[in-house]
Amino acid sequence: MDIKLLNQVEKESIGERQPLPEKYLRLSDDEMDARIAAAKKTLGERVVILGHHYQRDEVIKFADFTGDSLKLSREAANRHEAEFIVFCGVHFMAESADILRQPHQKVVLPDLAAGCSMADMAAPDQLEMAWRELEQMGIRTAPVENGKQGVVPVTYINSSAAIKAFVGAHGGIVCTSTNAAAVMKWAWERGDKLLMLPDQHLGRNTGWKMGVPLDEMIVWDPNEMWGGVTAPQVEKAKLILWKGHCSVHTRFTTAQVDVFRKQYPAGKVIAHPECTLDVVQASDDSGSTEYIINAVRNSPSGTTWAVATEVHLVNRLREEFSPDKTIVTLDPFGCLCSTMFRVSPNHLLWILEGLVEGQVHNHITVPEDQKRDAKLALDRMLAVRS
Ligand code: SF4
Repeated sequence: MDIKLLNQVEKESIGERQPLPEKYLRLSDDEMDARIAAAKKTLGERVVILGHHYQRDEVIKFADFTGDSLKLSREAANRHEAEFIVFCGVHFMAESADILRQPHQKVVLPDLAAGCSMADMAAPDQLEMAWRELEQMGIRTAPVENGKQGVVPVTYINSSAAIKAFVGAHGGIVCTSTNAAAVMKWAWERGDKLLMLPDQHLGRNTGWKMGVPLDEMIVWDPNEMWGGVTAPQVEKAKLILWKGHCSVHTRFTTAQVDVFRKQYPAGKVIAHPECTLDVVQASDDSGSTEYIINAVRNSPSGTTWAVATEVHLVNRLREEFSPDKTIVTLDPFGCLCSTMFRVSPNHLLWILEGLVEGQVHNHITVPEDQKRDAKLALDRMLAVRS
């Protein structure tokens, strides 16, 4: 039987995937599994495989560690004996691992086409332009004598190394969906207003939970002159939200919440903060992937959950907790991160057998100057207690 490499979604997106040598196509499930396991065994402690929660089952079953991007990067840096970090995730995650890795380690991404549409919504030249336009609007962008600055840049970890580097070099900080509130508090202690990028929804949801009125948040559209806003609007804003979003999490709707509540009146809805504010407000709880996993795990027997995040994580939660708890995806069609999905078992096999043969395919390297500045922003985050 052919491996599920070419299911319908994959057939439609095959042109977007990194091509593989012919001999890595059309392998049976059994042969694929056996060869991945054999290559991994041969490499032993020289390799560590990291699997993001949104990865497909056929890949994540080979991961030594699973988690969100920050947790995985930390795991990688702590596995000093591993020479190769194979990051089954998307490009910005592999870059973060390269920034945090030990000097002797190399980071590999199985499919170079595995990007993140949200991270791609903030390009470095757009951020430089926005920064200049804010200065021209009279907003202070550098610290003054008391150490305070007008605007402090905060970037979600779901951004390129170049964006993290800009943020680090301009007094800013990285956040994750787990620590966004603590990081934003840190930033407001150092500036009057925050420029939060690239995800407007994480920024808005966190700001709203922290009590920032919606009329003190504005959206900066990098494709518009002056971000599509006026100087008085920027002056009044406490939170400037970059116009970016996750194409997976913004598919969840309040109508889906209503349908679930009719079907399961006692059920609970939990949403990732990359969902829109109305979905988060209509939910019973919200938080990062790690938070969602713990909320489901710690809930009483018999609880029913609708989970608004990527479908592979939801399916694994259902398998882990069934029949004790009922877990469904909030979107009946299941929201799939198609770029995460590009990392196929075929790509993983190609990478591992390459390493066995002494060839490092898809080595991810962040330029040294970017690494230095991006690390500033990451280190500031790591010093913040959440
Ligand atoms: S789920 Fe959204 S934010 Fe996460 S990798 Fe996919 S596109 Fe990017």
